[in-house]
Amino acid sequence: MITELRISRKDTELLQAELEANRPYEACGVLIGTMDSCKALVEEARPVINSNRTRTSFELDPRQFYVAWNDAESKGKEIVGIYHTHPVSSAVPSLWDRKTMEDVSLVWLIAGADGMRAYVWDSGIRSVKIVEL
Ligand SMILES: [Zn+2]
Repeated sequence: MITELRISRKDTELLQAELEANRPYEACGVLIGTMDSCKALVEEARPVINSNRTRTSFELDPRQFYVAWNDAESKGKEIVGIYHTHPVSSAVPSLWDRKTMEDVSLVWLIAGADGMRAYVWDSGIRSVKIVEL
């Protein structure tokens, strides 16, 4: 199980900028990098169009997601996580997030109005430590 997410300051700044730019709507994207049994290393945070753009939901545009996935694979990387923003609420998974997390075994990074937190699903929501590089 992933317990630690390593991400550069440049990428956390990008997420914060995405949160501000899309407020009050949610923004989303993918985290590309490498993963071992307990650590995920983010090498690129890449914004993806939110095809269900509301104040309380997101859905990664399938075409852009596919392009990002292919691009990662061609460089020997993988999609290690998904990020989205909660511009007007805290960085805690919503009911919808929780349901989706059960089906997506990646790290979930949420940039909320009160800061960033990361989670993974392992028979329940587990916190993942964020280490800024
Ligand atoms: Zn959410």
